[in-house]
Amino acid sequence: MASVSDFTKLLKAIHFAALKHRDQRRKDVEASPYINHPIEVAETIARVGQVTDLVVLQSAILHDTVEDTLTTPEEIEEHFGLEVRRVVEEVTDDKSLPKATRKQLQIDHAPHLSTRAQLVKLADKISNVRAVTETPPADWPLERRVAYLDWTENVVAGLRGCNAPLENLYDQLLSQGRAALSIQGKI
Ligand code: ZN
Repeated sequence: MASVSDFTKLLKAIHFAALKHRDQRRKDVEASPYINHPIEVAETIARVGQVTDLVVLQSAILHDTVEDTLTTPEEIEEHFGLEVRRVVEEVTDDKSLPKATRKQLQIDHAPHLSTRAQLVKLADKISNVRAVTETPPADWPLERRVAYLDWTENVVAGLRGCNAPLENLYDQLLSQGRAALSIQGKI
């Protein structure tokens, strides 16, 4: 059973991430608030993956703060400790590298991540596959959406074994996404 202190730590992470992402929107046509995404990632890990490790749930909430805002790893450590910092750093792309390199590195690194980081990465891909299928970026043509789904499959191949229910959900969303996009391609 989670303690008051655990709930406080999780809510503190949500508050921190909401502040850091406050000026960002998702790329869908409705420009949803960015914070919806990390909240969805953490919720999926808890509900589907049945994960109660507070470090994983905090890291899920914070997983895009270093990559997509001015947040530093030191700040994460100061507020949430070294373990959370490590997981967030593991799932953070080096934005100084070209996009194609970063995408290849995600595939290469996936099998070598800690289990905690693998859980966050897998739920991140679940959220993104759902978004690219149902609420895609307004300017993404169909081929780009299909290519994105293909790429996530290569990343997830390196995450297999970390959590069966999450892997099953990913597989289901991937096949539903491919079916939906192939129908759209024929219209
Ligand atoms: Zn993300």
